[in-house]
Amino acid sequence: MKDSSPKKLAFVTAGLVTFTYTVITMLADILLYAFVPWYVYIGGVAFMFVVSYLIIHRTLNVFIYDKIRLIYKTIHDLKSPSGKKKIQSGNSSDIIRQANEDVVEWASDKRKEIEELRKMEVYRREFLGNVSHELKTPIFNIQGFVLTLLDGGLDDPAINRSYLMRTEQSINRMISIIEDLETISRLESGEMMLNYSHFDMIEMVKEVIELLEMEANEKKISIYFGRIYDVPVMVYADRKKIQQVVTNLMVNAIKYGKENGRIKVSCFDMDEHILTEVTDSGIGIPREELPRVFERFYRGEKSRSRNGGGGSGLGLAIVKHIIEAHQQTINVRSTPDIGSTFAFTLKKGVSPS
Ligand code: ADP
Repeated sequence: MKDSSPKKLAFVTAGLVTFTYTVITMLADILLYAFVPWYVYIGGVAFMFVVSYLIIHRTLNVFIYDKIRLIYKTIHDLKSPSGKKKIQSGNSSDIIRQANEDVVEWASDKRKEIEELRKMEVYRREFLGNVSHELKTPIFNIQGFVLTLLDGGLDDPAINRSYLMRTEQSINRMISIIEDLETISRLESGEMMLNYSHFDMIEMVKEVIELLEMEANEKKISIYFGRIYDVPVMVYADRKKIQQVVTNLMVNAIKYGKENGRIKVSCFDMDEHILTEVTDSGIGIPREELPRVFERFYRGEKSRSRNGGGGSGLGLAIVKHIIEAHQQTINVRSTPDIGSTFAFTLKKGVSPS
């Protein structure tokens, strides 16, 4: 029966019961030659109809509610404790439709949850795979150096010192991978709180340049500002985190820079924001790699071919997380063999008066 409600079902079934009752009573009257006055007859039929309608309607309701209550119980037990909908024992014609809608909604919620869990599972698997892959190289290197030293290399002045130094380099690499991993996991778990303050971007960039001077000098790379900044360029952000952003961008600019290259840092006033650009004259990034450089563990062709000497592939992922935590944006432009420009925005700050 289409669009059947408990009321309709009860009505039709009561009609059938009453019809059967009437036929049987009529037959009995005829067979027994009994004479029953017409009003008793009509009264009996009406009584039969009303009573059977009430009984059937009640039974159906109890049956449906029992079944649906069970479904609701299952949904609500699985749903959040604040399960917003409650079964209402009043309007029985709506109850099945309401239950149907709720079950569909519940099923779609569950489907979304399952998709989310699947994505997380893939991410976890990839993450573990990437971490072990990144750590494998320095560990195997250390193992190789130590074994060579134990096998007599320790007494060989031609290699003992250099192997120990290379062991130290591999250990440093492991430490930096682990530090990056810690940073990214803190950023991704949302644990990292931003400590906002007003500070001068130029002063902070100068500090980073000083720290990286040695590495830049090794490649004879000169670092300079796009113009003379004689007044502070104030931004409102977490100073330490932004220092990490600038450091990671500069480290990359040196790492992927060419000998005798240049790195230029510029700040632009953009009304409510300050745009900072780090431009290098390095190897550049192929167009097809550009959309992926901010992915965690992504390493470009050139970085991977550095035989373990490259980074962990986490530097730019950390940069992006920090900038996005400030609700700002970062982007990159690059031309292979010419160089790259990483540009990010920050909220403008005010100078202490
Ligand atoms: P990595 O540890 O490999 O440097 P990053 O997340 O810092 O990881 O960078 C991801 C990739 O982006 C690098 O492997 C490299 O291919 C590319 N890249 C980043 N910065 C630069 C740059 N300044 N010049 C050229 N390529 C870069």
